[in-house]
Amino acid sequence: MDLIVEQFMARSDNFAVLVHDPASGETAAVDAPDAAPIRKVLDEKGWRLTSILVTHHHSDHVEGIAELKEAYGCVVTGPQFEAAKIPGLDRTVVEGDEVRIGAHVGRVIETPGHTLGHISFHFAEDGLLFCADTLFALGCGRVFEGTMPMMWDSLAKLKALPDDTVVYCGHEYTQANADFAVTIEPDNAELGARADEIARLRAAGRPTLPTTIGAEKRTNPFLRPDNAAIRRHLGMETASDADVFGEIRRRKDSF
Ligand code: ZN
Ligand code: FE
Repeated sequence: MDLIVEQFMARSDNFAVLVHDPASGETAAVDAPDAAPIRKVLDEKGWRLTSILVTHHHSDHVEGIAELKEAYGCVVTGPQFEAAKIPGLDRTVVEGDEVRIGAHVGRVIETPGHTLGHISFHFAEDGLLFCADTLFALGCGRVFEGTMPMMWDSLAKLKALPDDTVVYCGHEYTQANADFAVTIEPDNAELGARADEIARLRAAGRPTLPTTIGAEKRTNPFLRPDNAAIRRHLGMETASDADVFGEIRRRKDSF
């Protein structure tokens, strides 16, 4: 049976995500931005939380862990390289390690840059990626702890996943990302159409996520540093992909 993914808002602009396996009854939360809205949805669905998959140490991703662990006795898995910064971890993981929700197998992809230990969870057979603050719809996370080349390497790993991979991210930042993306690639017709659709969704109070790897490859400037039109626009025709990415990221930081 397929996994059921329930996405909803927590805090101001964080997404909370629950992944439920009907066959086993197991339910995982990807990060724990806030216990209250997560408990409410678990109650409504009649699901019991069995695990939390933590992507990185920022408070808006871990603050709900203690209360959820207390309430459900769930197992908390997170990045080995941030173990000292994440309270309540039961298991630490590195690149390639497996996590399971019932019989569904996910693999850890290390995606440092936003933080040095940031990880993403890829469920290949289910076609699902949970990448928190590494890749956003039409954007990417700020490079707080790592370097621009490090973040580019992380995004390139995600870009290499199958186009039909369904992508869940940590935040609803898509409108601001779209406003910026069209300044980097003004002649991308698919991006223009997507920006219009995003404005419609947000005006209606609806989420713009999940997205797909394919849609991001075609419209997200942070996955397109190899694109000739973008390079020409930036005057960086002969630069490395990492340098073009870095320039786009710096422009977004001051946009
Ligand atoms: Zn973060
Ligand atoms: Fe965040």
